[in-house]
Amino acid sequence: RKSGILEYVDTEKLETADIGGLDNLKKWLEIRKKAYTPEAEQFGIGWPKGVLLVGVPGCGKSLSAKCVAASWKMPLLRLDLGRVFGMYVGSSEANIRLALSMSEAVSPSILWIDEIEKALSGLASSNQSDGGTTSRVFGTILTWMQEKKSPVFVFATANNIGSLPPELLRKGRFDEIFFVDLPNEQERAEIFRIHIKRIGRNPENFDIAKMVKLSGEASLGDGVRLTGSEIEACVNQALLEAFFVRNSEGHPEG
Ligand code: ATP
Repeated sequence: RKSGILEYVDTEKLETADIGGLDNLKKWLEIRKKAYTPEAEQFGIGWPKGVLLVGVPGCGKSLSAKCVAASWKMPLLRLDLGRVFGMYVGSSEANIRLALSMSEAVSPSILWIDEIEKALSGLASSNQSDGGTTSRVFGTILTWMQEKKSPVFVFATANNIGSLPPELLRKGRFDEIFFVDLPNEQERAEIFRIHIKRIGRNPENFDIAKMVKLSGEASLGDGVRLTGSEIEACVNQALLEAFFVRNSEGHPEG
């Protein structure tokens, strides 16, 4: 299951509806899903190449990778670029070739390249610092993305577009680049509902409008809004507190 650089990620219980907000991405993915049908192939529609999701941590990039794999019913393989760089000259390139060919061997599949900027951050100076390994590995990935023969959908995620090499952002590399921002009011409402359902409660019984207000700029200050992951944490905390109240044990922290 875990080869070190390539990890099979279990996505069994997820669906696209588990993502709150990110409507453009969800719509795009729904349409592209149809490209994998025999009808689409007969019609001459090629396989989608992939997408790049860039944006704020904790707002659903990883979640989206998992949900798309579940919705498309394809295996999700997470590539840990940080681990690709081996100790011996030449082994990094061999590692990446092996990982890429493994993703083709189980295709149609989704190759999730997580936090792509982390591994590539030293690219500009890499020729001096690592004998050019980073740029050769990066080149191998770019060439493979252009020339791969099997339906492997690349789902790349990054936190900061400024640290990504321009070659990666060139037109035609990915089908689309999506920016993920802090959720707005409507998106926060959706995310609260999703997580309230997840803990087995009915969102109709909750004052979602108040939660939306408390988790946004009106309460937290200019430019401050909770992330999806913080909303999830709030719901979990509220459940815990409700449990203490119900059992009349008082709050453990007073
Ligand atoms: P990072 O860059 O830190 O990996 P990320 O954008 O990939 O962040 P996720 O790992 O997807 O963020 O989010 C963490 C958790 O927060 C998710 O597993 C999910 O439970 C919750 N969450 C985040 N965003 C959303 C969302 N848009 N809808 C529903 N849940 C969300």
